[in-house]
Amino acid sequence: MIDNFNVESEMYKEVVNQFDEVAGIIDLDPNLRERLKYPQRALTVSFPFRRDEYEEVETVIGYRVQHVLSMGPTKGGIRYAENVNFGEVTALAMLMSWKCAIVGLPYGGAKGGVAIDPSPLSRAEKQRVTRRYTAEILPILGVDKDIPAPDMGTDEQVMAWIMDTYSHFMGSAQPAIVTGKPVSIGGSITRREATGRGAIAIANEACKKLGHSFSDSRVVVQGFGNVGRYAALDSYERGAKVTAVSDIGGGVMNDKGINIPELFKHMSKNDSVKGFSGAEEIDGSKILEIPCDILIPAAIGGVITSKNASNIDTKIVLEGANSPTTVNAHKMLEDSGIVVIPDVIANAGGVTASYFEWVQDTQNYLWKEHQIYERLVDVLTTSFDEVWKISINNNCDLRTAALMKGIKKVAAAKLTRGLFP
Ligand code: NAD
Repeated sequence: MIDNFNVESEMYKEVVNQFDEVAGIIDLDPNLRERLKYPQRALTVSFPFRRDEYEEVETVIGYRVQHVLSMGPTKGGIRYAENVNFGEVTALAMLMSWKCAIVGLPYGGAKGGVAIDPSPLSRAEKQRVTRRYTAEILPILGVDKDIPAPDMGTDEQVMAWIMDTYSHFMGSAQPAIVTGKPVSIGGSITRREATGRGAIAIANEACKKLGHSFSDSRVVVQGFGNVGRYAALDSYERGAKVTAVSDIGGGVMNDKGINIPELFKHMSKNDSVKGFSGAEEIDGSKILEIPCDILIPAAIGGVITSKNASNIDTKIVLEGANSPTTVNAHKMLEDSGIVVIPDVIANAGGVTASYFEWVQDTQNYLWKEHQIYERLVDVLTTSFDEVWKISINNNCDLRTAALMKGIKKVAAAKLTRGLFP
């Protein structure tokens, strides 16, 4: 358990390296450069947890990290995974700050995590962990303070339990305390699909700029969770061939293109894409090396490294997951002519749809599904266009361009507000 207190996680180092590189390019104020490497507020909690068949009470560690408090409430997902640690959650909160600034949302970045493997948990166990974790981090949550959302290992149901627990403490229903919750309690119809579909809307724009046709592309997706499955579905609906997908249980491949709606049906009865009758089984660990036009890592961080980057054979890497590519691997991909669309813009559809959900909840006003989708695509493609122009004007890759935009915006807000006291 003590291992989870490791601030110096690989992901934290990677995200700080990225930040340092860009801070140098934009000649960031030295005080801010130091300041922005650390979260403005962070809470580590430990709490007792009883499994259904228990002999002893376990101690579980959780975190909520708020990176920048200068631009409005903080916003970011909550992740349940065994190896969640303070450094990783901090890194993800930093990425959220840049991401919100890049797409122009009035938020600072936050992230939360509970160091527990959610897969063996019963519904009752997951509910107990969620409610207790919520109660522990309650002092720093708030509709206008910090608004969680789902991330790896959490879903709409977990958001509903957080909303219910928070509402009990407040004495009235507080739908705006989380986003990505079920529609029945104020969730947005498009939030579930927004990250994956938003990523494909951006890939489509990138293809236009690069002179490729998205609908003629072969797409490979690692991860068939919230992000990966809707990225695959949207690709399929646009006529592209999704030739391989994988999840933690294994992978499947079909050169003629996988029928994604059929794979959805398979997933409604099975835990993994493995065993799907419409495709051949493959070794999931090799998915990233399958030749394609658009490769979408949409599972976990740190999967494209200097060890496998030279085996990647694609035109575009679309980062659906957070921090899937290490700094060294990113350089190797760019050197071999592969365009990397970085996480901070590629998966920003999730937080953008979350923002729409939060606005609707705070104003008790509902928009129609098509209105949300149109606004989502407009925000993402406009932001991507701006990032593209920065990259052309500065002769730099898209990650550097996106971070230049995001970091400059956060820095401007901090400098304008000044120092207290
Ligand atoms: P999820 O829990 O819904 O799905 C994760 C998927 O990855 C599952 O299919 C799982 O089996 C697979 N997976 C896990 N470990 C794997 C491994 N070692 N190899 C191959 N597959 C593996 O999670 P999600 O919400 O889809 O999030 C995926 C990534 O996208 C994360 O990095 C998350 O931070 C990022 N992200 C998510 C959202 C969102 O809206 N959910 C928004 C922005 C970014």
